[in-house]
Amino acid sequence: MRRTPPLIVGGGPAGTAAAITLARAGVAATVLERTTQAHDPVCGGFMGWDAIGALRSIGVDPLRLGARPITHVRVVAGKRQVEAPLPHPAAGLSRRTLDVALLAEADRLGVDVRRGVNVRRAEAGEVHLADGTVLTPESLFLATGKHELRGVARGSGKRARVGLRAAIPAQPDLAGWIELHLLDGGYAGLLVQDDGQANLCLSISSARLAAADGSPDRLIEMLGEEAPLLAARMSTTATSWSAIAAVPYGWRTREAVPGRFRIGDQAAVIASLAGDGIAIALTSGIAAASAWIEGGPDAAPAFQRRFARRSAWPIGAAETLRHASERPALAGPLLSLVGTMPGSLGVAARLTRIGV
Ligand SMILES: Cc1cc2nc3c(=O)[nH]c(=O)nc-3n(C[C@H](O)[C@H](O)[C@H](O)COP(=O)(O)OP(=O)(O)OC[C@H]3O[C@@H](n4cnc5c(N)ncnc54)[C@H](O)[C@@H]3O)c2cc1C
Repeated sequence: MRRTPPLIVGGGPAGTAAAITLARAGVAATVLERTTQAHDPVCGGFMGWDAIGALRSIGVDPLRLGARPITHVRVVAGKRQVEAPLPHPAAGLSRRTLDVALLAEADRLGVDVRRGVNVRRAEAGEVHLADGTVLTPESLFLATGKHELRGVARGSGKRARVGLRAAIPAQPDLAGWIELHLLDGGYAGLLVQDDGQANLCLSISSARLAAADGSPDRLIEMLGEEAPLLAARMSTTATSWSAIAAVPYGWRTREAVPGRFRIGDQAAVIASLAGDGIAIALTSGIAAASAWIEGGPDAAPAFQRRFARRSAWPIGAAETLRHASERPALAGPLLSLVGTMPGSLGVAARLTRIGV
């Protein structure tokens, strides 16, 4: 039976991985991406070995894009810090560079990539674009990531956090490291990315941000006592922040609708502390496309159930870590444990990987 190629809404890692996988099998899908040019989404830019492996499997090598190798992790809570090697090499790559490369690879393979197309809602088999066009795709790949689409929204839930991102000058002791600062109600992650700048990502409860009058700069000022190293790293620079609200950590889809493939953050949202969201986006995009190639639109429910099972363990492990690390009473004992058993950090890093 002849099938019409899928419509993919969202040109981040999930949507482009799906598009590239389809194109490599001779299916030229369409990708609708609302941004018109390269941009920096709120993301830490940490790529674990599973993300690196998934990227290479679709013909994109992050190291060729200038990703900076990361071999060690430093965890900081107050004035204490512990350090450990990562079990496998990871990398720091800006999302600006990654997303541009993925979209370019999709385009090179013949995918119909349409930028500047904003999808307003998806309901009852119809996809409504901002310009009034209505599409009725046989198969919809929902890859809008952190952004909800009316008609198919995830809902944010009580675990939602605010994500903040800024680029700051890199200090020499960050090269080769991912540095995690544990905070009451959140964490901050720092690494050096391809452009030589340090990428800072913060995930914080909305209550804490509200206590700082909604200002990230004020929040950093207020963290002076709680996170002195972070405050010192931020003290020399004026910072331009981007933000994303209501990130529903721990959420996984339970839906199984023929013709609708939820991928990336629209399938499962891992705590960003674990640094595996990009890997989940890529692997779910690749798996959904493979399922479609095998079984067409009707393959969606089985794909969705399989992916929910596959992501259950890393998401659960990441939630446990997040709950412990966000509470000052637990963060201290956590650091003591890691201090006496540095290998436990590697175990935690392994447990929170989706794998390739
Ligand atoms: C604070 C924070 C730090 C993080 N740090 C890391 C990290 O270091 N490492 C890691 O692996 N993961 C990290 N993550 C998670 C990671 O960012 C996500 O898991 C990943 O981006 C999901 O990819 P995606 O393709 O599903 O969605 P996204 O990357 O969000 O991409 C979705 C795309 O869809 C487009 N889009 C959205 N709505 C529409 C629409 N209506 N019409 C058309 N286009 C649309 C967007 O413009 C975007 O390009 C972090 C997350 C947060 C919140």
